[in-house]
Amino acid sequence: MKITKTTYSKLANTDFDNLSFGKSFSDHMFTANFKDGEWHNEEIIPYGPISVSPSTHVFHYGQAIFEGMKAYKNKEGKILLFRPLDNLKRLNTSAERLCMPTIDEDLFMSGLTELLRVDSDWIPRSDEKSLYIRPFMIADSEYIRATPSSSYRFMIITSPTASYYKGETKLKIEEKFARSIEGGTGFAKAAGNYAAAFAPTKYAQNDGYTQVIWTDAKNHEYIEESGTMNIMFRINDTLVTPKLSDSILGGITRNSVLAIAKQKGIDVEERKISVKEIVEAHKNNTLKEAFGVGTAVTLNPIDKITFRDLDIHIEKQTPNSYGQLLKKELLSIQYGKTEDIFGWTMEL
Ligand SMILES: *Cc1c(COP(=O)(O)O)cnc(C)c1O
Repeated sequence: MKITKTTYSKLANTDFDNLSFGKSFSDHMFTANFKDGEWHNEEIIPYGPISVSPSTHVFHYGQAIFEGMKAYKNKEGKILLFRPLDNLKRLNTSAERLCMPTIDEDLFMSGLTELLRVDSDWIPRSDEKSLYIRPFMIADSEYIRATPSSSYRFMIITSPTASYYKGETKLKIEEKFARSIEGGTGFAKAAGNYAAAFAPTKYAQNDGYTQVIWTDAKNHEYIEESGTMNIMFRINDTLVTPKLSDSILGGITRNSVLAIAKQKGIDVEERKISVKEIVEAHKNNTLKEAFGVGTAVTLNPIDKITFRDLDIHIEKQTPNSYGQLLKKELLSIQYGKTEDIFGWTMEL
């Protein structure tokens, strides 16, 4: 693979003690072009602007998909990846839904590992920090015809990140807008899903909430996700989460948390969860915990859920709560502190 190194590293000018999510980027990026039915020009180049024409397809028709994953360093300074092939699988699922080309394992893994080797100093050696990895694909043909693009660009950029306390999480159960619909693109990590979610989220934030809880588009009766994370509840001693469908994004964190819970002997249910059930569980004191799960923040406890004029306060998570236990266990595997009986981590 062709590697062109930067002549000026930003490393010394990056404040690793004050990282704000997604704002600083490592020195290099991976890029590849799809043309004439094949991927070409795989290379690593200095991170920086790319030049595109105003007629570039993605600006007009939104064929854009992405992934979110992390690289960690263990105590010995070895680089660990967490389930990268699951991200690739999902990227290809997204690609198919958006009528974009898929990427084979060799291209994805060689681009990813070479980039991490070149920028290994950007992966913080700390239990609280990691390198967020953003692979993405855009349509880059230069024509404004409403047909799928004939050429594409795949890139990987990375950003050092820290886990930080974001304050209380107060969610509103959304009953007007929908993030995704049956038969739509909700299961794909499509940029357009996010674009459609910004306005409803902003309206909720204007009313003092941090995020919305998305419900099904048809009747707003069943719970789907919490903002950009999957959602889980502890009702009595059972961990319940919405069953995957084409309007829910199948999170790798969700899948991992469920597997760890089962292994710990916790009863797990993947099924439809109605808003009514949550309200009732709150009223009869069986709703013990609620949290969001996703790569960016791992596991985030929910403090309050508002449904119409009912405020459901959820108790602070104690050290032996499911949330704390599952988060600690997952992070231990990701940082290589505990034996990975699931075979999820990949050492570079
Ligand atoms: C990415 C994403 C998630 C979380 O997926 P992870 O693989 O756990 O990071 C959940 N919901 C939506 C809508 C997402 O885009």
